[in-house]
Amino acid sequence: MLKLNHHLLKLESRYLFSEVEKRVLLFQEKNRDAPLSNLGIGDITKPLAPSIAKALSEASIEMGTFLGMKGYGPAEGYLFLREKIKEHEYQNLGITSDEIFISDGAQSDMAQFQELFSLNSPIAIQDPTYPVYLDSNVMAGRTRKKTKNGKYGAVLYLPCREENGFLPSIPKEDAGLIYLCFPNNPTGVSFDKKYLQRWVDYAKERKALLLIDGAYAAYVRQKDFPKSIYEIEGADEVAVEFRTFSKSAGFTGLRCSYMVIPKKLVIEDLGQKHSIHKLWKRRQDAKFNGVAYPIQKAAEACFSNEGKKEIQEQIDSYLEGAKQLREGLKKIGLSCYGGIDSPYVWCKTPDKMASWDFFDLLLNRYQIISVPGEGFGTEGKGFVRFSGFARFESIERAIKGLYAYHHQR
Ligand code: PLP
Repeated sequence: MLKLNHHLLKLESRYLFSEVEKRVLLFQEKNRDAPLSNLGIGDITKPLAPSIAKALSEASIEMGTFLGMKGYGPAEGYLFLREKIKEHEYQNLGITSDEIFISDGAQSDMAQFQELFSLNSPIAIQDPTYPVYLDSNVMAGRTRKKTKNGKYGAVLYLPCREENGFLPSIPKEDAGLIYLCFPNNPTGVSFDKKYLQRWVDYAKERKALLLIDGAYAAYVRQKDFPKSIYEIEGADEVAVEFRTFSKSAGFTGLRCSYMVIPKKLVIEDLGQKHSIHKLWKRRQDAKFNGVAYPIQKAAEACFSNEGKKEIQEQIDSYLEGAKQLREGLKKIGLSCYGGIDSPYVWCKTPDKMASWDFFDLLLNRYQIISVPGEGFGTEGKGFVRFSGFARFESIERAIKGLYAYHHQR
């Protein structure tokens, strides 16, 4: 008889973004003409840069000719793209093109990577967190229960609170797989070199593995705040890095990402050393048939002079949105964080209001869409996330609305 994977039933039924969407739709049904300021958006709001769109269409036309036809590509991605990534993103960091794996999204990469490890491996996740790390581990059968003693197979939550600048403390317990996201979604803060060195040292000492979500690496601006974990000494022995073209070049609708797995990364199991690189390669060969050629050509175009300039302008503009939000919210007297090396601003709710209550108030009274912090984890209670992907006019209108709210309190 057919049986379900019961671990799926353990997932929180209220998936954050669908709940936000549901409440917004309900509001729109009742208020058809009200202009909404969408500051909750986690997606890009600008079209593909012209040189990237051109590369995409040229590659598609090329595939329609006998000379340019393409069948299956390599599971790890075409060398032309891996070479460009190495040259532009990992120059002087000792990463080689065969340590780079091209894929169709950081979300799926981060969800699937845990397959390489035993269900008994303890995992550590920031709280609040981008949801995929926890959900994928729960679906695989790891428990979502909090643990006081780093019990095996359990999730160890790393609280990111206002008093520690939203930086998770290094745990006393052993954590096998450690998910770290910088610049962080949702808190918008990034990590400096000194702090990251402590994580690398911890991972070496405890034989743990750091899984670095660098989806927003292109937004890092502050000196001493690294874009890549491999800027930290010894990281190539303990860290895998996940990057995507989604937020750096507007590929959310195209799908292209990459992972870096250094060959130095080995784990010891039953007295034998195993290469993580080899295991992932084997897994990909069995389960993945590569990313479409035109999409990889479009990704390659991000590294041309023209492409670099065009996408830089887009990132600068999203960062300008985040700056306007941060400054506007601060002027109103709301405490907020992030938004310097990230498009996200993490805002404390006024008067200790619950996140969903503040969300409802913003939506119903001021037509502002935010994302309730508690949807990202317990520690997100009392916060909402605003986003610099919003249009400037939405940001301006929202700040005006919030200003009125502040004066009515
Ligand atoms: N990681 C983080 C932290 C994100 O915020 C997102 C998207 O919002 C992703 C990964 C997903 O990236 P991709 O579009 O490559 O799947």
